[in-house]
Amino acid sequence: MIELSKSQEERAMRLHKEAIVIDTHCDSLGGYLPSRGRPTKVFAEDNETGQIDLPKLVKGGVTCQVFAICTASGPIVPDATFRALKQVDYFYNVMNKLPNFTGVTTADEIVEAKNKGVVTGLLALEGAEPLMGDIALMRVFYQLGFRMISFCHNNRTPWADGLGFKRSEGKLPELGVKGLEEIQRLGIVFDVSHITDHGFWDVCDLMKGPFIASHSNCRALCDVPRNLTDDMIHALADHDGVMGMNYLGGFVAKENANLEKMVDHIDRIVNLVGPNHVGLGSDYDGGGRLPELNDTSMVPNMTRELVKREYSDEDILKILGGNFLRVFKKVLK
Ligand SMILES: [Zn+2]
Repeated sequence: MIELSKSQEERAMRLHKEAIVIDTHCDSLGGYLPSRGRPTKVFAEDNETGQIDLPKLVKGGVTCQVFAICTASGPIVPDATFRALKQVDYFYNVMNKLPNFTGVTTADEIVEAKNKGVVTGLLALEGAEPLMGDIALMRVFYQLGFRMISFCHNNRTPWADGLGFKRSEGKLPELGVKGLEEIQRLGIVFDVSHITDHGFWDVCDLMKGPFIASHSNCRALCDVPRNLTDDMIHALADHDGVMGMNYLGGFVAKENANLEKMVDHIDRIVNLVGPNHVGLGSDYDGGGRLPELNDTSMVPNMTRELVKREYSDEDILKILGGNFLRVFKKVLK
């Protein structure tokens, strides 16, 4: 575990308490829905299984958790919209009715909730399958409160090619280009995690403002297609974007992934482009898990490791959530 002096420990706890902590990716929401009539996990309770629920978010000092809805990966998934809407219903009719949790759609609401000690959740689509290849449904999902969208998981959708389709070497299809225009017009955060490299560079050409990689690390430290190359990290930073660090072991290191190796990715990004372009994107309940970051209640360990590496107060607050808050302020209306 992380060895800190008493004063370092106090500094870490003070900073973590002060910080607006934002995690831009988890796959937890679907797990709260009853399966075969029985609830498997309950958001309001400290569940034995699962990595995110309200008591764990409170314990971990998380201010804003992005809840991604990932229905199924594929060109057209007939019941994707239905399955997404069932999760939206749980978000509003169960989670949002709890006294110390609220759904948000703006940066100001996150700051306000932090001051009141309320945990917030923001809805995201991981893969645009529920939009059924129709831009009108993007507007409907915006009305439902979605403020982050990626066009694809690992498969091909009508909007973009996911990493499984990298041999196509394709740019975005017309629908993807129109979709990006609509995303910018509405004020939705665009997420490039899971898109092919060719798709990434096309997005760079087409996006005027910031975009993010909600849960991707550095390819130079762990060579998997889900991570970004140094050139991509520079391009993301040139757009004033942010990348969320993914705790999935196989994206952190080829072997013995742990918190130290995770924070090596943060060091690299800070060395490449400065401290304004990195944040947290756990991938909890989607494969994210490290010995020191077993579930979201353990996020303070991230702060402790950053203190141990002598990051400044200002930079630690940025990494924990300040950077993503900046993007949210710029993009969300
Ligand atoms: Zn993912």
